[in-house]
Amino acid sequence: MTDKPRDYCGIFGIYNHPEAALLTYYGLHALQHRGQESAGIVTSHYDSAKERWVMPMHKDFGLVLNVFDDHKILKKELKGKAAIGHNRYSTTGSARNPANIQPFRVHYRDGNVAVGHNGNLANAKQIRQRLRDKGVIFQSTSDTELILHLISHSKKEKQIDQILDALDQIEGAYSLMMLTDNRLIAVRDPNGFRPLALGKVDGSYCVASETCAFDIIGAEYIRDVEPGEVLVIDRNTLETDKPTSYYLEPEYGTETSQCIFEYVYFSRPDSRIFEENVDKVRRNLGKYLAKEHPITEVCKKVPPDKKPVVISVPDSSNTAALGYVHENQKIGHECKFEIGLIRNHYVGRTFISPGQKSRDQKVRTKFNKVRGVIEGRSVIIVDDSIVRGTTSRYLVDMIREANPREIHFLVSSPPIISPCYYGMDFPSPDELIANRFDRDIDRMAKEIGVDSLRYLSPEGLVNAVKEANDSEKGYCTACFTENYPVPVNFGVEKEENEIV
Ligand code: SF4
Repeated sequence: MTDKPRDYCGIFGIYNHPEAALLTYYGLHALQHRGQESAGIVTSHYDSAKERWVMPMHKDFGLVLNVFDDHKILKKELKGKAAIGHNRYSTTGSARNPANIQPFRVHYRDGNVAVGHNGNLANAKQIRQRLRDKGVIFQSTSDTELILHLISHSKKEKQIDQILDALDQIEGAYSLMMLTDNRLIAVRDPNGFRPLALGKVDGSYCVASETCAFDIIGAEYIRDVEPGEVLVIDRNTLETDKPTSYYLEPEYGTETSQCIFEYVYFSRPDSRIFEENVDKVRRNLGKYLAKEHPITEVCKKVPPDKKPVVISVPDSSNTAALGYVHENQKIGHECKFEIGLIRNHYVGRTFISPGQKSRDQKVRTKFNKVRGVIEGRSVIIVDDSIVRGTTSRYLVDMIREANPREIHFLVSSPPIISPCYYGMDFPSPDELIANRFDRDIDRMAKEIGVDSLRYLSPEGLVNAVKEANDSEKGYCTACFTENYPVPVNFGVEKEENEIV
C-alpha cells in the first residue's frame, strides 16, 4: 500500500560468536524495514566428520519471523561461529523467482563463498553479457550473482585477491556482506551510497546496514565501514583485535555520494548511519522546513483561541514534524505537535481487504484520524516525501472528514523528479506527482486536496543534513536534482532472462 520508495535490502554479518545465527536473526529482525519479501542466513563451520568446511543455509520468502519460525533452524541447522544474513526487497531480479533470494552461496575451487548485497550494480548488464559470452550459466536474474562469477573467474591466486579483482570490475551502489570458509568480508562501494557500520558484541565483530541491528543484540557501534573499504575479519583479527582493510579506487572522482534519502526516509530514526544519528538529522530537516516555511506564512485562517496543530504521517515523519514545531516555537510562532493520525501496526504488506481493493480502503485500514485534535483547527501535515501522491490524497480526505479549518501539507524533502539507479525502487518518472503536474506546486496541492503544499528546497535539504552531520563526505541527491554521481547510461539490468 505504501506510496514510498522502497529499499532493496538489509544486511548483517558476525564473526566468531557462539550464537552467530541467532544474533544474525535478531539483526535481520531489526532491519526488517529494509526488505520484507524474503530473508536468509548462511553460516560457516568446519565439519570434522566430513573433514571440510560447510555452509548451511536457510532462506525463503516472507518476513524474518516467518522464515525462521522454527527455532531448530537457528540452533541445529545453522551451526557455526560466523554468519551473514539478508532481508530482501527486489527490483533487479524477479521477486517471484526463489533463486533470487539472498544470501547466495556457492562452492568453487577455493572453497565456499556466500554473499548478500544491498544496492544496485550500474554495469550489471555489461558484466552479464561478458560472462554469458564465456559460457557462464546463471541461476538467478540478480546482479549479486555476477559478483560470485567474477570471483570464480579471477586468475588471481589468493582468495582475497580474487575478491578484490571482482570488486574492481563492478560499478554503482553496493554494500556487501561476504562469508568465506574462514572470513567475514564487508564492502562498501567507493561512493558509499548505502550505509554499513562495524560493531562489536561479546568481543566479536559484527557488521550491519544500520546500527539498530547492533542495539537489538547489545552490540557497541565502533565506526562506519568507509566508502571504498573492504573490511576483512578473520583469525588474524582475533589475534590483533583489528580487522584488515583494503581500499577500492573511486571510479568517478573522489567525491562520496551517500544516499541522502536514507536520512529523509529509509533508515530507522534510532539508527546511526553515515556517522550521525538519523533522529538528529531528521529533526534538522524539520528545522529547515520551519526556516523556509514558518507557520505564520503557511496558515491563513487560524482561529483566535486555538493554536495551529502540526501532525505527522507516522512513523517516518514524526521526527521531522517535531523539528518543525520546535523551530517555530523557538522563533516565537505558536503551534503544537499533536498525534492526529494513528497507524495500525498490525497491517502487513500483504494485507488484502476482502471485496474492497481500493487504495482508499487500504489507507483507511492502515491509518485513522483523531477527530478531537483536528476539528476546527488549522492543521499542518508533515510528511517526509511524496511519490505518486495517491496515499496523501486519501489521508487528506480522511482528515477533512474531521472538519479542520484549513489543511496545509509540508514535505521535509524536495519534490522527487527522477528515479534512483542506486538501490531504491521508485515508480517510473511519469508516475511521480511532481512530473505529472509539470512541477507546478499549486496544481499538485489541488490534486492532493490541500489548501497549500510546500517542500523543503534542495539547498535546504543538503544544508540541513550537513549542519547536523559535519562530516566532509558528500551526498547523492539525484532523485531530487537529476545530478547522478555515477553515470547511469549503462542501463540497469533487465529481467530478460527470467526463467520462472
Ligand atoms: Fe538515494 Fe535518491 Fe541518490 Fe537513489 S537517487 S541513492 S534514493 S539520493
